[in-house]
Amino acid sequence: MPELPEVETIVRLLAPGIEGKRILSADLRLPRLLLGSDPGDFNPRLEGLRLERIVRRGKYIILELPGLSLVVHLGMTGQLTYAPPDASEKPGFYRTVTGMQKALGVHPIDKHTHLIVRWEDGSRVLFRDPRTFGKLFLIEGRDWMRHPRLRILGEEPLTLRIEPFLAKHYPDGSARSIKALLLDQSFLSGVGNIYADEALFRSGIHPARKVKDVKPLQRPLLLQAVKDVLRAGIKNSGTSFSDYRKPDGTQGSNFERLQVYGRGGQPCRKCGAVLRKTGIAQRGTVFCPRCQPLPKR
Ligand SMILES: [Zn+2]
Repeated sequence: MPELPEVETIVRLLAPGIEGKRILSADLRLPRLLLGSDPGDFNPRLEGLRLERIVRRGKYIILELPGLSLVVHLGMTGQLTYAPPDASEKPGFYRTVTGMQKALGVHPIDKHTHLIVRWEDGSRVLFRDPRTFGKLFLIEGRDWMRHPRLRILGEEPLTLRIEPFLAKHYPDGSARSIKALLLDQSFLSGVGNIYADEALFRSGIHPARKVKDVKPLQRPLLLQAVKDVLRAGIKNSGTSFSDYRKPDGTQGSNFERLQVYGRGGQPCRKCGAVLRKTGIAQRGTVFCPRCQPLPKR
């Protein structure tokens, strides 16, 4: 599932192609992806509007239009790709000034393409989602942060200040696992399975450790590790483990740099012990039994 670094990468790479441009047409092909408003109104409402800004909040992408915000959540397998004005409708090859060039990997429109937005300059943004857990919704006006799904989100991990955040939000008495807390979008927004496992490894904390048993001195280290793994993820344009793609259709390069996620059964890169895979917080969880010990009680 795309997490903060993947969504941030998509927003940063889409912005220069579409900000300030007018929507020529919108074609919603799978009406049930649209929540909370009439799918029949969707296409006509978007037509002719000029995109003011595209931003990220948690794992949500928000397109700010005059009087209206379009919110996209990529779910498990959602992809937002950008086909430049000169790209063919059936990519494979596209025309450049020097001749034909192989397309960078933007997927052709197929049965998994659920929304096509055409812009005034001839470029297209395609929302493709094989497993259809993605969601779209329209919010009237600019006040998207007050929408029920967005106002419950916790602070943005990259910009929060660690000590004040912990003092205000760390649930001292909680007996749930620290992994479950990191995945809780009302605690931190944008962290998912990949970056939770990576941050726990980096800070040497067992994912099943109870929130209340993580020592006060370890908590800021864990938060710093969250920031560090997210920043590294953005720097490497995200983790392409399965479906995630950058807007040009190519993969992010963070996967090969991961320490634990996706590496169950392989040796720890720090100590050589075999990494263990287990289920914690209903999610596949990989950790090093030696670097992340569970204290005996
Ligand atoms: Zn280890």
